[in-house]
Amino acid sequence: MSDEQAPLLNGENRDGAPTQSASHKRHKAVAGGLLLLGFIAALVLALFLLEDGLPRNPVKAAYKILDKAPVIDGHIDLPWLVRELNGNNVTQVDLRKAFPGHLDIPRIKQGRLGGFFWSVYTPCEDSGANFTVPTNSVRDTLEQIDVSRLLVEKYSDVFSLATSTQDIRMAIFSGKVASMIGVEGAHQVGNSLGALRLYYALGVRYMTLTHSCTNAFADSAGIFETPEPVHGGLSPLGVELVYEMNRLGMLVDLSHTSDLTAIHALKVTKAPVIWSHSSARAVHNVPRNVPDDILKMIGLHKSKKDAVVMVNFAPFFVAKEGEADLVAVANHIDHIGRVAGRKHVGIGSDYDGIGSTPVGLDDVSYYPMLFAELYKRGWTARDLVGLAGGNLLRVFEGAEATARFMQERGAQPSMARYDKRPDLPRPLEKEL
Ligand SMILES: [Zn+2]
Repeated sequence: MSDEQAPLLNGENRDGAPTQSASHKRHKAVAGGLLLLGFIAALVLALFLLEDGLPRNPVKAAYKILDKAPVIDGHIDLPWLVRELNGNNVTQVDLRKAFPGHLDIPRIKQGRLGGFFWSVYTPCEDSGANFTVPTNSVRDTLEQIDVSRLLVEKYSDVFSLATSTQDIRMAIFSGKVASMIGVEGAHQVGNSLGALRLYYALGVRYMTLTHSCTNAFADSAGIFETPEPVHGGLSPLGVELVYEMNRLGMLVDLSHTSDLTAIHALKVTKAPVIWSHSSARAVHNVPRNVPDDILKMIGLHKSKKDAVVMVNFAPFFVAKEGEADLVAVANHIDHIGRVAGRKHVGIGSDYDGIGSTPVGLDDVSYYPMLFAELYKRGWTARDLVGLAGGNLLRVFEGAEATARFMQERGAQPSMARYDKRPDLPRPLEKEL
């Protein structure tokens, strides 16, 4: 039964460490305990009913599943859209009516979107050969975090800031949209692990190791062509970055990274990882998609790493020009399910970050149609609950458990600094 456990309830983790340690978060657990118990009871009942009595009609079945276990999307670019359209002025933004782009509150409800990572993206700026030319990335990232938090606060009846799996469950249980924050590229920390720690303090719970540019930590996959590798995967500072993210409990996101970076990160990470918005290269051959040899490194067995690949809807990553549609996106999901396992696939649409969308997946209100397509293909309620968000929650819980495990054993914050930075006095204990 343990393998068949409902994904949303799955508490196991790779290291075998308890997901709720006795010493940590006790006060929080007591406060939220009753609510959470109610939630778990409701879910057990829901899954029991779902397995038993799903309608034959795939669309009706999809809505029934998503009403109990709504979609948690790994990557939505609403903060960037607000920067582009409104210069970050959130008082001008009205999400209660039709908003340009792919989501607003009415469509969130229609699409059964129960949570998403608000991407706080800043573009790659030229930081020179050694990545030491100053840029505005840290300032701009702080502004995008501010936009996210202000919008969550502005619509506090709809959104709820979530910095833990418990927060996500509580938000969904109380009918809110769990709102997590993800940074899309390590160029956004300005080569500084101190900045990373403060992003965590502000609520950031994943960081992509690169965007489309290589940075001081890791090599990028580029967009359509992979740039010449600089580090051959992670740099020594990148290895230290992964350690620090593991220690903090911030998810390591491997979307946008080169294959060697992904393989290197899978080797050194102590925690499960994510691809917040990447599809399958065997289905459509672009460097931004995950190849089968890397998908085969993912799994729950000791010899593998737990991970979730959250499928990207960007048409140019889905299919040849003019051929991206809902069926093609389902093919990516099916393929990852076949190669890595259905417990390792999720949704990372990239909505609001993509100029066009696949036919039949025009905006967030269309998720149920994608679930209907997979239901038609034989995906069970359990598989679909995992795809919707259960798989992500298991992986996130694994990262939380790893952080507790490391911190309880005295793992120290990394004091590593980038050796090419000219501004810090030498010598420091650790130079990378
Ligand atoms: Zn991206």
